[in-house]
Amino acid sequence: MSKFPILAQSFQFVIAYKPMDKELDWSNLSFGYIPTDYNVRCRYSNGRWGEIEVSSSEIINMHIAATSLHYGQEIFEGLKAFRGKDGKVRIFRLEENAARIRSSAEGIKMQPVPEELFRKMVIEAVRLNARFIPPYGSGASLYIRPLEIGTSAQIGVKPSEEYLFIVLVTPVGPYFKEGFKPTNICIMREFDRVAPKGTGRWKVGGNYAASLEAGERAHKEGYSAVLYLDPKEKKYIDECGPANFFAVKNGKYITPASESILPSITNKSLMTLARDMGIEVEERHIPIEELAEIDEAGACGTAAVASPVAEIHDLDNGTKYIVAKDGQPGPITTALYNKLRGVQLGEEPDIHNWNTIVEGI
Ligand SMILES: *Cc1c(COP(=O)(O)O)cnc(C)c1O
Repeated sequence: MSKFPILAQSFQFVIAYKPMDKELDWSNLSFGYIPTDYNVRCRYSNGRWGEIEVSSSEIINMHIAATSLHYGQEIFEGLKAFRGKDGKVRIFRLEENAARIRSSAEGIKMQPVPEELFRKMVIEAVRLNARFIPPYGSGASLYIRPLEIGTSAQIGVKPSEEYLFIVLVTPVGPYFKEGFKPTNICIMREFDRVAPKGTGRWKVGGNYAASLEAGERAHKEGYSAVLYLDPKEKKYIDECGPANFFAVKNGKYITPASESILPSITNKSLMTLARDMGIEVEERHIPIEELAEIDEAGACGTAAVASPVAEIHDLDNGTKYIVAKDGQPGPITTALYNKLRGVQLGEEPDIHNWNTIVEGI
């Protein structure tokens, strides 16, 4: 790799600079895609990762027989950068995301991205698009989406020999536009997101494809997500749409232990913060019937941090579990949400060293 792969591209920076037509309305951004100036790419071929490239194009040129297109060799990550109270830019738990995408790569036989390459590319993507980092106080953040795809032209079913790793970023608005309010979710037994020993523990695009039908049905009925049951016995709570599930019962934080769920970094962080606050944490099977005994529930992930649950409706037998009895988020969910946001925004001390500060932007 050349010593200054990014500097070599700095001419492009001047030529391709697209002035923003108007200042973005930071507080009213949705969780959608807004074009930014650059993305950062790296190709793996002939047994090694090449140089980091900076691109101002939103398009990739790919072979029609690429393994990602035919056999689903695609994995991704999601993390965020925040402009803090002190003006500094913080990327939350970059190392955890780097480790998880390597685990996903190994899970579906792709070439793992070295941690140092992941780190460099994520930081560079944030730095080059610094003008898209929403200001402190807007509630918005810069969403970072690393993705890796198999690119070799193959028709036989086997792992690709070549890969493309891309980091793109896009500003996203505050998740709770109308405030931090509980929503309803539903249990539906007709669909599983993943198989018992399948790809659920990896962040694989195909898991999302498998969840679209159930997710759309739930949305049509007014639910924010499907609460999946464990795919083997359908006895225990598994995952809440594209987020992990947690509940609070008798002052304890409980969350499913399951090999078919994705190990959420937000969930991990909430568990650590809960312990810091003296709250006991249990990672264990949660039988469906136990939903009748919980005091609070939420879905957690990078997008929402923690999204409180009001009611859980079992669509197959008509049972309704009323979690938020007064329709408000519970005290522990609220405290954990505020604490985590505080660490991300530099309002709270980062005692676990979760943030990577990007200097000079
Ligand atoms: C990304 C993801 C999550 C949340 O993980 P975080 O690291 O907290 O963002 C949860 N479940 C699924 C299925 C996911 O893909």
